[in-house]
Amino acid sequence: MPGNQERTFIAIKPDGVQRGLMGEIIKRFEQKGFKLVAMKFQQAPEELLKQHYIDLKDRPFYSGLVKYMGSGPVLAMVWEGLNVVKTGRVMLGETNPADSKPGTIRGDFCIQVGRNIIHGSDAVASAEKEIELWFKPEELVAYKSCAESWIYE
Ligand code: UDP
Ligand code: MG
Repeated sequence: MPGNQERTFIAIKPDGVQRGLMGEIIKRFEQKGFKLVAMKFQQAPEELLKQHYIDLKDRPFYSGLVKYMGSGPVLAMVWEGLNVVKTGRVMLGETNPADSKPGTIRGDFCIQVGRNIIHGSDAVASAEKEIELWFKPEELVAYKSCAESWIYE
């Protein structure tokens, strides 16, 4: 099913990395049934981070946000599956962890909006843009998941 191949861009921010939450976050996406397509651990260049958040360039927190995102390595990932963009955002919780329900990543693991540990694309179109920005086409891995017929009917 082509719908099952929707993709989203998820990044564990420097605080999530430093706080040892990478495994826990990957586990949630894996156990949900989404398929990992790409993963890159890197100190992101400032230019990349500025571009990633370009839509927020006029907001007062923009420069602090870029600095925060560059304050240590980030884990950039592409996950695939049915409605993964929308469901991924549900799994993340609200932008402000104070509004995020327990059971969500931000609801369970962080407190303040400026240290909210994870990014997830907010729409299919922005996911496509973000994946193109962070990954080269050959870094997206094509393979068949043996669990597919147990996850989708
Ligand atoms: N952010 C912030 N202060 C704010 C709003 C946002 O520091 O008042 C940061 C926060 O890290 C957030 C990021 O800017 O995750 C991007 O904001 P956006 O509104 O796109 O939220 P998201 O899509 O990450 O939920
Ligand atoms: Mg956003």
